[in-house]
Amino acid sequence: MSEVHDIAIIGGGITGASLAYFLQGRRSVVLLEQETALGFHSTGRSAAEFTRRFHSPEVGRLTQASADFMMTPPPGFAEIDLLRPRGNLLIADAEKAGHLRTVYDTERANAPKDTPPVELLNVEQAMEKVPFLDPGWVSVAFYDPDCWDVEVEILLQGYARGAKSQGAAFQQSASVTGAVRENGHWVIETSAGEIRAKTVVNASGGWADPAAGILGAAPLGITPHRRTAISVKVPGHDLTHMPEVNEIDELFYFKPDAGQLMVSPADETPVDPHDAWPEELDVAYAAHYLSECTTLEVTHVAHSWAGLRTFAPDRLPVIGFSGQVEGLFWLAGVGGYGIQTSPAVGQIAAALLCDAPMPDPIAGIDPRLFSPSRLER
Ligand SMILES: Cc1cc2nc3c(=O)[nH]c(=O)nc-3n(C[C@H](O)[C@H](O)[C@H](O)COP(=O)(O)OP(=O)(O)OC[C@H]3O[C@@H](n4cnc5c(N)ncnc54)[C@H](O)[C@@H]3O)c2cc1C
Repeated sequence: MSEVHDIAIIGGGITGASLAYFLQGRRSVVLLEQETALGFHSTGRSAAEFTRRFHSPEVGRLTQASADFMMTPPPGFAEIDLLRPRGNLLIADAEKAGHLRTVYDTERANAPKDTPPVELLNVEQAMEKVPFLDPGWVSVAFYDPDCWDVEVEILLQGYARGAKSQGAAFQQSASVTGAVRENGHWVIETSAGEIRAKTVVNASGGWADPAAGILGAAPLGITPHRRTAISVKVPGHDLTHMPEVNEIDELFYFKPDAGQLMVSPADETPVDPHDAWPEELDVAYAAHYLSECTTLEVTHVAHSWAGLRTFAPDRLPVIGFSGQVEGLFWLAGVGGYGIQTSPAVGQIAAALLCDAPMPDPIAGIDPRLFSPSRLER
């Protein structure tokens, strides 16, 4: 009989890789990824933002608990900083000016610990930060300095390298297609052969419900939502130090990305799990929103893409052992914040799987909030 691993992780995105890393060699691990490369789906298509504001209290806490790791990763984890300062400019047109001031007051009052304060800006001050804003559209703005670009690929590879150095095996081109429980462990059928493990972790992102079905569990209503982005050239403008810009209700956002401007219409269309691609209408909306609030003329879209943001019905992550199927652990539903919360989410999952106390940065977070039991019927 082939080796029985302690844990098989389905999914080589940021969620599966962070768990493999934070298990720190305490369990024997094999990670199974259906694609040829890690991070091929959501993880490789994100807006790469880290911000402690504008989330539910639970997601805010997970992000805060991830900040130390992101800002000061362990020696040797990454060859460059994982976070780069970006800043975030929140803008509103005349109709939403009052609403923006209310959001500003709330953010000022509830500032996350140790973060610099937000600043209310008039149109001229906003245009000092983003000269191509249209003063005919923007009415008022506020600036949040606590917004960072994440080096997503470096973070993902740091997790993978660290996990492998602790003995974890990573198998790419290994799609999980079937599983049966035999003698207290799983016999897992994959496109790369059979794997045995005592526990299977379902970190399959948009595929979380169908993957759980392979293991005999009922779906939890974890649904992928498509989000689109386009990339446009902005000749004559140096974007290096420009902040990210968000419409106050996140109707759209744009930010510098590899010398161009990434623009998203912040769409959120429920879809079946698949290799997401952009729909023409969403691409057109992205270009329209940018043209509307700036003086830029968008004549050419250099590149467009889409990815899946996958949510449980209550929009909280799902982390914990199944109450229905022995040997199944859920690690899914990290929505639009899976990159920035990956240090905390990976550590919570690792502690639960090892029946260990929650380590320091996450000690104040009650993992029962994220238990699949809240969704199991
Ligand atoms: C446009 C966009 C912008 C975003 N912006 C941000 C942001 O600014 N900040 C942030 O923190 N987050 C952001 N996100 C969200 C973030 O990208 C996700 O939360 C995160 O990548 C989810 O990671 P994951 O590992 O759960 O999923 P994935 O990266 O999708 O990984 C799941 C993996 O499971 C594999 N898999 C599925 N089924 C099987 C199977 N049967 N066998 C083997 N393998 C399987 C898939 O191939 C996939 O690689 C954004 C997402 C999008 C789309």
